[in-house]
Amino acid sequence: MTKVGLISPRGAEKNSRNLLLQKVYERIKALAAFVEVDDIEFVPNLGLLQVAAYFPEKYRLSYIDENYLELNGKPPEHYWADFDLVLLSGFNHQAKRAYRIAQALRAKGVKTVMGGLHASALPQEAGRFVDAVVAGEAEELIPQLIEDFERGKLQPIYRAQRGADLTRVLPPRYDLINPDFYNKIAVYATRGCPHDCSFCCLKGIYAPEYRKKTLPQITRELDMIKNLLGEKFITFADENLLVDRTFSKDLLRALIPYGINYECYCDAGVAEDEELLDLLKASGCVELLIGFESADEKVLRQIDPWKAEKLKDYPRIIEKIQSRGIGVVGLFVLGFDQDTPKTFAQLSDFIERTGLFDVDISILTPIPGSRLYAELEKSGRLLSQDWNRYTWHNVNFQPLNLAPRELIRGKFQVYQRFYREKAIAERASRFRELYERLHHHGLAR
Ligand code: SF4
Repeated sequence: MTKVGLISPRGAEKNSRNLLLQKVYERIKALAAFVEVDDIEFVPNLGLLQVAAYFPEKYRLSYIDENYLELNGKPPEHYWADFDLVLLSGFNHQAKRAYRIAQALRAKGVKTVMGGLHASALPQEAGRFVDAVVAGEAEELIPQLIEDFERGKLQPIYRAQRGADLTRVLPPRYDLINPDFYNKIAVYATRGCPHDCSFCCLKGIYAPEYRKKTLPQITRELDMIKNLLGEKFITFADENLLVDRTFSKDLLRALIPYGINYECYCDAGVAEDEELLDLLKASGCVELLIGFESADEKVLRQIDPWKAEKLKDYPRIIEKIQSRGIGVVGLFVLGFDQDTPKTFAQLSDFIERTGLFDVDISILTPIPGSRLYAELEKSGRLLSQDWNRYTWHNVNFQPLNLAPRELIRGKFQVYQRFYREKAIAERASRFRELYERLHHHGLAR
């Protein structure tokens, strides 16, 4: 039987941010009564599980998540032992590790394939290390790749010419993962996003059209997860889940009987629809992750004019969502050309004023495939192309009005203010009060 390894390489991110995250998240637990979700994420690689679905039964598949290998007390090499074919996938900060694994495997005669965000954006680079690169959405390419592998004629690159028809994709192979490793299971219902943020690489790599799975496909996947993995917190990996209102409402109605808790990425537009907000609550949504990006209108005008228009409404939008007992996690990025030393206090003020439940603050990162990457490369402002540093926590380009150290320090200042004892206590008491009120009115799940 042909043995196939699906390897999610160890990322640089875990090591570089663990200590800080540990501290930060220990404090977040004070709010657990409100969201009941462990904020430290352990999520399997959905891309590999999706690709696995296209292998016929005659293949023996193993999913290996390198981030957990040490837990078993064995060196990673132990798991590479006897594969005939290995597929690798991951984010930019996993690329160097993926290349190392591929080189070691090829030296033993194992065929290697790499896909995912990094390889899709830089197929020529990845092609130097693996036998074949899958660039773009993989679903419709894998059957051909398998056929070529069987004939011993892998092509150097398989490039998607269009976005996959999501109504035909197979359910990811959730049966391949060890449920004990993960506290969140990723599911996706749609692909595409109507926005066009300058730093986003998704439009440059994957098909831009907004597409949806059918409801039966999604509920089938949820049934699989429940049967195979038990009651798990679901994280919708969609770029922007709630864009199509009719579809979204049908989806949320279909989620209600499952009694799950989940989070999803969406934009601030969701707050305009009361029925949608009610359905989010009723279907078990505990957190909405919203990319506000910046609290400065000048910055937002450069990133996405739609977001700039919405800025003045953000306090009302956040209040509207949170008053239903759904926490808003504000996603922000620091390091834009218009950012100055004053930006950090401005962002902290905004976070306090709006009463956000939680925040995730990143350092602007020129991800290959994004407009930002192309612009900074052209203008000679890239400081590093060491992909291990592409974690959204390092400065890899020359900021315009800040020194790289200043930017890192500024980010920590914003976090420090958000997680100071007093601020945590205030948030905890505000959200507990709200939760009790909702509970009293029978509105909390
Ligand atoms: S809203 Fe998010 S997914 Fe959409 S373009 Fe902006 S960064 Fe990308």
